[in-house]
Amino acid sequence: MPTIFTKIINGEIPSYKIAEDKDHFAFLDINPNAAGHTLCVPKREVDKIWDLSEEEYLRLMAFSRKVALAIEASVPCERVGISVIGLEVPHVHVHLIPLQSMKNATFQHKEKLTPEEFQKIAETISGQVK
Ligand code: 5GP
Repeated sequence: MPTIFTKIINGEIPSYKIAEDKDHFAFLDINPNAAGHTLCVPKREVDKIWDLSEEEYLRLMAFSRKVALAIEASVPCERVGISVIGLEVPHVHVHLIPLQSMKNATFQHKEKLTPEEFQKIAETISGQVK
């Protein structure tokens, strides 16, 4: 059965898309630690990051770096944190989180955004992806 992220990649479930290339997809986390919290995923459905080949891993990181630079350019924050953690969805995902404080890195504190706010922030970040 496809993961929820595969369904998002295939457009079967809506998302606030940030960027896409042949092998990767980036979209806003629906339950963000902070506004702009983005997930970068490989299109190939792999559960654990260490099961990617070295080449796939490096290309996912290069894609995530591009997205992180776009977040840094468009979301007010001290810096953009990166985390590969969590047990919920068995499909590799890199969390990119705008950090104002370490509270944003804990996955305990969540921000509530309206659909309009999600849409606006997605457009702002995606407009900065080079
Ligand atoms: P983890 O596996 O990292 O513990 O959790 C998966 C992450 O994906 C969580 O941060 C959660 O908010 C996010 N997530 C789960 N389901 C969806 C979804 O349907 N859409 C989006 N955009 N994010 C999701």
